[in-house]
Amino acid sequence: MNNTASQSVVDAPWSPEYERLTIHFSACPRCTAVDQEGVNRKLTCAEGARVTAHFRQARQGT
Ligand SMILES: [Zn+2]
Repeated sequence: MNNTASQSVVDAPWSPEYERLTIHFSACPRCTAVDQEGVNRKLTCAEGARVTAHFRQARQGT
């Protein structure tokens, strides 16, 4: 019965790309930077752009 572990990963509601995206944007000091009013400063982040691009490509599916 434990052999279904890999299948449950495939059925997960989020993709590895989405997980990477959420992990990055919750931990990256540039992507989480906010101004004095708590508004995201949207700093340029190469890694953030990369994970976002990967996520969009994955969602479009091929
Ligand atoms: Zn970032």
